[in-house]
Amino acid sequence: MPDEAVNKAVLQWRTDKPMTMLMPLRFADGTLLDQLEIDCANCARVLRSQHQRGIVSMVMADTYRIKGLAACDQCSSFTRFSFLCSGVDGVVTVEWKKGDRAERIQVRATWWSRLAVWVFKRT
Ligand SMILES: [Zn+2]
Repeated sequence: MPDEAVNKAVLQWRTDKPMTMLMPLRFADGTLLDQLEIDCANCARVLRSQHQRGIVSMVMADTYRIKGLAACDQCSSFTRFSFLCSGVDGVVTVEWKKGDRAERIQVRATWWSRLAVWVFKRT
């Protein structure tokens, strides 16, 4: 990763909120997204909420955008994630794009292909 990308990631890590504060995500009908598990893009270690920081914003009713970083202390690298998730009837759908213009500098295809492991439950 270029130094500039690392610097940006470190700055973002300092300003984003811990995902443990942002989760679970609750959707209108009570569907919950408990946590996201993100594979480290470098060493494939599973990174849970305590290793993630990010921002959650509502895009439309029942659809949230989650953007953030997962930090791996095993290999000292960041994995960037950004996705939309929507929840209804106990099912959470996670969507992401490759080559999102706003993220082009730091996003790599491998990061996007590894992130979508998630669990949910219905209250
Ligand atoms: Zn790692």
